[in-house]
Amino acid sequence: MLSRKQTPGVVSNQQCDTYAWFSQRAWVEIDLGALSYNVQQLVQFLSPRTQLMAVVKADAYGHGAVTVAQTVLQSGASWLGVATVPEAIQLREGGIKAPIVILGATHTPEQIHAIAHWKLQPTLCSPKQALVFSNILEEMNYGSPVPVHIKLDTGMSRLGTNWQQAGEFVQLVQRLPHLAIASIYSHLATADSFDTTVMKEQHRRFEEAIAHIKAMGIQPPCLHLANSAAALTDRSLHYDIIRAGLAIYGLYPAPHLQNVIDLKPVLQLNARITQVKTISPGTGVSYNHQFIAPRELRLAVVGIGYADGVPRNLSNKMQALIRGQRVSQIGTITMDQLMLDVSAIPNVQEGEVVTLLGEQGNEQISADDWAEQLNTISWEILCGFKHRLPRVAVM
Ligand SMILES: *Cc1c(COP(=O)(O)O)cnc(C)c1O
Repeated sequence: MLSRKQTPGVVSNQQCDTYAWFSQRAWVEIDLGALSYNVQQLVQFLSPRTQLMAVVKADAYGHGAVTVAQTVLQSGASWLGVATVPEAIQLREGGIKAPIVILGATHTPEQIHAIAHWKLQPTLCSPKQALVFSNILEEMNYGSPVPVHIKLDTGMSRLGTNWQQAGEFVQLVQRLPHLAIASIYSHLATADSFDTTVMKEQHRRFEEAIAHIKAMGIQPPCLHLANSAAALTDRSLHYDIIRAGLAIYGLYPAPHLQNVIDLKPVLQLNARITQVKTISPGTGVSYNHQFIAPRELRLAVVGIGYADGVPRNLSNKMQALIRGQRVSQIGTITMDQLMLDVSAIPNVQEGEVVTLLGEQGNEQISADDWAEQLNTISWEILCGFKHRLPRVAVM
């Protein structure tokens, strides 16, 4: 494990202890201290009856699932949420023992065998799926009941049984052998918007469904509804578990939620300068000469490109940090390389570290800045870094 201050020079990752600077052209730095801090901030914000499910799907939003899972479990999270069976198996193979809920749908015999074998907890979205599970577990002659999470659709129109049929669905699952209801949950469609009208209606529908289930004489063991945005918006949405993804990675789901708790971005994107040169006025830069030098300038070539996950649509629109100063990216971003105008920084050297996302000194470039430029959301930016970039954990 490296301290962030030690990073220049030699970088280590999981495969290899030491890399000469030239072999580590670009990397994603994961600040486990910040990750732990964010989890602690969230846990402190919750009432003692509410547990934290850390959502680590999509390789922990690009941060590296096993390392993230280990850290969040040590810092106060009790559950892990993933999207797929292979994501869950990766965690189990990495030694993770905590309960893992598969938030996506699973249907096939292979998936159900794996769920039983690896002691995973599936989401059940429909009576049909519940019957398939029960039948396959029966065929397997599987001993202990599999904990299942009942998904209700209260207005997202994605996975789940319509909230108005919740009672019948829950009753069916309760009567099926080999299944034990571990929780009943739903997902909110508009929790990050300033207008809470739709979210309140979904909350009302969830309450109505739960009331119906209770009226049938069934006591739901555990309820959950909130993602990061909902958790930061309204405590009445917390129930027994909150399912937080974005917030544990240190980003706010919306600008109006920035003052609720303090969060620190976990991911930093770094690359090294591979060549520095001076170009004369009128010189075109990169493919199609989408940038023409207006004056003589110092140009730095950096070893990172769109094949690493720096979106080509940021060409001529993004900035980077060198020695704590902002510089502009110039010309089209290419597959493996991009160029910066470093004229303002004296004597820039090959091998120096450039931060494309993250903090240097008093300057910061966040995934929100990229998302705004690209007309998307920070979730997509975080998930976009390819595995050509090693994930380097720092404290
Ligand atoms: C991805 C996901 C979450 C986490 O959402 P964030 O907005 O990142 O907190 C929670 N619940 C479900 C069902 C999800 O799919």
